[in-house]
Amino acid sequence: MAKAAAGGGGADSSVADQLRELGVKGVLVQMAERGQLLALKCEMPQCYHHKGRAAFDQVTTPRTPWAPSPDHYPILKSAGGQLRPENVRLSHIWCNNRDYGWRMQIRTLLAKGKSLAEIAEALNSKGVPPAHGTNRWTAAMVRKAYVS
Ligand SMILES: [Zn+2]
Repeated sequence: MAKAAAGGGGADSSVADQLRELGVKGVLVQMAERGQLLALKCEMPQCYHHKGRAAFDQVTTPRTPWAPSPDHYPILKSAGGQLRPENVRLSHIWCNNRDYGWRMQIRTLLAKGKSLAEIAEALNSKGVPPAHGTNRWTAAMVRKAYVS
């Protein structure tokens, strides 16, 4: 194909189109139109979708766990972060909820003075699922996830 898209210009509008086709409105579409989202993929540090980061469900009411969702990042909603282009990353609803869950647990345990190895053990014993493709948290994974 001689007309294959060269450069980045065309990719941005197609991400916006893909989002609209899924029924997404608001800040994520706006970001895609501005060239602030380069691909339709879950940007969470850990993604749990078995088909991968690029697989999303249509937005329905209520939303399914695999529908696209704007995650407050880097400033958490609980810390006053707002859904604006400078504070949003694209996530699956499921991954976003999971992220919040383990992030809060790690935060609490760090504040209590626990080591990363102790935190990994605590997450494992509570059955908190680690990244797709692994089945146990390790100290290094806890640190990497927390600072992502
Ligand atoms: Zn995901």
